[in-house]
Amino acid sequence: MVFVFATTIIIIDKQENGENDFMLTRVAKVNPIQPERTLIAEAAEVIVKGGLVAFPTETVYGLGANAFNDDAVRKIFAVKNRPPDNPLIVHISDLEMIHRVALDVPEKAWKLIEKAWPGPLTVILKKRREVPKAVTGGLDTVAVRLPGHPVAIELIETAGTPIAAPSANLSGRPSPITAEHVIKDLWGKIDMIIDGGETFFGVESTVVNVLHDPPVLLRPGPVGVEEIEAIIGEKIVVPEWARGYAEQTVPESPGMKYRHYSPVTPIILVEAYPGNREGMIRKIKEIAREEKKKKRKIVVITSSENNRLYEEEGIRTVVIGSSKNLYEVARNLYRVLREIDELEVDIAISESFDEKGIGLAIMNRLRKASTLILKV
Ligand code: AMP
Ligand code: MG
Repeated sequence: MVFVFATTIIIIDKQENGENDFMLTRVAKVNPIQPERTLIAEAAEVIVKGGLVAFPTETVYGLGANAFNDDAVRKIFAVKNRPPDNPLIVHISDLEMIHRVALDVPEKAWKLIEKAWPGPLTVILKKRREVPKAVTGGLDTVAVRLPGHPVAIELIETAGTPIAAPSANLSGRPSPITAEHVIKDLWGKIDMIIDGGETFFGVESTVVNVLHDPPVLLRPGPVGVEEIEAIIGEKIVVPEWARGYAEQTVPESPGMKYRHYSPVTPIILVEAYPGNREGMIRKIKEIAREEKKKKRKIVVITSSENNRLYEEEGIRTVVIGSSKNLYEVARNLYRVLREIDELEVDIAISESFDEKGIGLAIMNRLRKASTLILKV
C-alpha cells in the first residue's frame, strides 16, 4: 500500500522540484512502547550525521535534526517550507540535557517541569550560545520539551544530542498524527520516517513563556491553562491570539483570517457562546440549507452527540468525537481536517467545543484552520 502511494509522491516531486531534490526515504515500523533498538540506532545515526528523521511523539509526529547542527536545522525549514522566523522546539531526553541548551532556568519553570515532564508541555527559556540562531528564529530564547513517547526519548538518548523538531508536515498543513500523514507531506524529502503508529494526543504541545511575569500562554495544548495555574499557583496570561483569533475577527460578524493547520476546503466555524449549543446547531443547518440551494456540496464536522440531528435532514457529516470526551476530539482533529479534502465537498461547516482543558487547543486549531468564524 505504502509503496504504491509513495510512488505517486515521487512522480509529483519530479514534476515540481526537479530530479535532484529527492532521496529515498526509509520508512521503518517500530513498536511504539518498546521500540526495537537496532532501528532506533539507525535513526540516531542519521541524526548524528546531519540527516532528518520524522518520529512519533505523544503529541504529533516531529521532524528532527541535531539541534546543534546548523545545516541540518536549516534543512528542516527548507523541506517544510517553514518561514525562518518560526522557531523550533528543542527536544531532550533527560533533565540534565536542559543545561546543554538553556541558561538560568527560573524557579517557575522547574515547578512546571517537575509535574509535566515527560509530557506535552514546552517551556521558553534563555538560550545558550551553542544553540544555532536558525533553531530559535533569531531569538535569544529557546523552546524546550522532554517528550513522553518511548520512541522520541530513545531516539534522543541514543543520538546523544538534543533534537530540534517541529511538526513533520508541510508548513500550513494539518500536523501529522500517523506515519501515513508524514509520507504524504514529506516522502522523498527526508532521510527516514519512524512509523510508531498513531500519536496519543493528536495536537501539538502547550507552549508557555515563564520568562514573563505573569507567564504567558503562547499555544494551548494537552496541558490545560487550569493545570498550569494550579502547578505554579498563579494566573497566567492567555492572549486572544493564543485562543486562535486573528485581530480582524469581530464577535457577531464574520471575519476573514490567516489560515493555518489548514485543509484546502474552506471551513466555516460556528462558535457557540456558552450555553447556546442549540443556536449553533440551528445556524449550521441554516448554512447547510443555503449552500445546498446554491448547489454546493457541504459536510458538517460534528460531535457524535449531534450527528443524528444533521443526518435526519439529509446533511452529510463527519463525526469528530464526543463533546463529552475532548481528548477524543483532539485525537481525531487533524485526521478529520485532512479527510475533508478527500470528500470533494465545496465547504465544511464545523461545530465548536468547550474551551476547558484540551478544549482550548481544539478551538485554537479550529479557529486557525477556518476561513470564516460565525459567533452565535
Ligand atoms: P511546532 O514545532 O510546529 O510545534 O511549532 C513550535 C511552536 O513553538 C511555534 O508556535 C513557535 O512559535 C513556538 N516557539 C518555539 N520557540 C519559541 C521561542 N523561543 N519563543 C516563542 N515561541 C517559540
Ligand atoms: Mg507545526
